[in-house]
Amino acid sequence: MVQCDYERMEDKIKTFSQFGDTGKGGITRFSLSEEAVAARREFVRRMEEIGATVTTDDMANVYATIAGTEDLPMIFSGSHMDSVRQGGNYDGILGVLTAMEVAETIVKEKIPHRHPITVIVWTNEEGARFEPAMMSSGVICGKFNKDDMLASQAKDIPGYTFGEALEKSGFKGEEKNRLNPSNTKALVELHIEQGPVLEAEGIDIGVVEGVCGMINYEFTFTGQAGHAGTTPMKYRKDALYAAVKTIQYLHDELDQLDGKLVYTTGKISAHPNIHTIIPDEVKITLDARHQDPEVIKQVLAVIKKIPGLVENCKVSYEEAWSRKTVSFTSELVDYVEKSAQEYGYTNRRIYSGPGHDAQFAIDLVPTTMIFVPSVGGHSHCEIEYTPVENCLKGANVLLNTILHIDKQ
Ligand SMILES: [Zn+2]
Repeated sequence: MVQCDYERMEDKIKTFSQFGDTGKGGITRFSLSEEAVAARREFVRRMEEIGATVTTDDMANVYATIAGTEDLPMIFSGSHMDSVRQGGNYDGILGVLTAMEVAETIVKEKIPHRHPITVIVWTNEEGARFEPAMMSSGVICGKFNKDDMLASQAKDIPGYTFGEALEKSGFKGEEKNRLNPSNTKALVELHIEQGPVLEAEGIDIGVVEGVCGMINYEFTFTGQAGHAGTTPMKYRKDALYAAVKTIQYLHDELDQLDGKLVYTTGKISAHPNIHTIIPDEVKITLDARHQDPEVIKQVLAVIKKIPGLVENCKVSYEEAWSRKTVSFTSELVDYVEKSAQEYGYTNRRIYSGPGHDAQFAIDLVPTTMIFVPSVGGHSHCEIEYTPVENCLKGANVLLNTILHIDKQ
């Protein structure tokens, strides 16, 4: 079996960890920041060195292509290079580095391939500086309005827009270079799992079947403000206590549903948030994810059972946003599984909880994903880690998957 190279993989991870290095084991590499642009330049330099032709589109997505032996549609692989604040050295970037390693292996080992192979770098996946997340794949795949995205303002510099950052980056290209179904054979994105399942089960490769559907609800509890020292407990309408009771109810009920359901109250705000005043308005969120729409319906049924009045406080709720379960192209999912088996790597099928650019791309072109384990399940933090050995296994599966696709 053809193999990617351990030392080259390790070198790539080390080199790209320097762009935005926090000095504490992680990176802060916001989209189109100086650090991100430096990482992109290194990407271009390395890809040109192996003979790739590099283009960029109007959202600064980068495409580095090595030609095939026939005039056929392209096979894409890659991910994003931007990070959250104090993020890790693997989220996103590993999908780019493994795709680079696959391209380098194909070139250096002179592996014959009919289709052009393109390494893609998506712009602004994290949305950490310019909202929303998955911005550029979203524009290309028709999810977001481009003008709205160009006007998106930086969280760190008031008034500084994504459009201005785009102009300044030197990576803005032409719309005609966008990922395009008419000349695309397939897209395969490798990513770290960002969760603990693969490591806990001793699995090398996650064969990703799709991305979980999710709902995000916002609840408002309305009570009555009052003096913390004078209002007897029985006369209170404490909105925070009502929220606590409701969160407990949600946990009790949702824990009885399918074991794969994950749900989170990650955001809470209390008004007036002063220690001597009984809270009169509290807002909380509920994020719930599952691959089966039926389970999401059961979550909704639990929400609808919440009474209008809890602890004498009024309760209302509304859907903030939701997304449907995304299923990847089954033929490609099978190739990933087959490739892992051919190397003798342990593997299992899995759904992604987090969103990825690939979930937008599937609307446009045949798409799938490959997961590698995250040690301890940690992600979006500096201790995010995947050993080089696991990264290499991922690169090998990616290489083999691409070669299977190439034969079709
Ligand atoms: Zn990512």
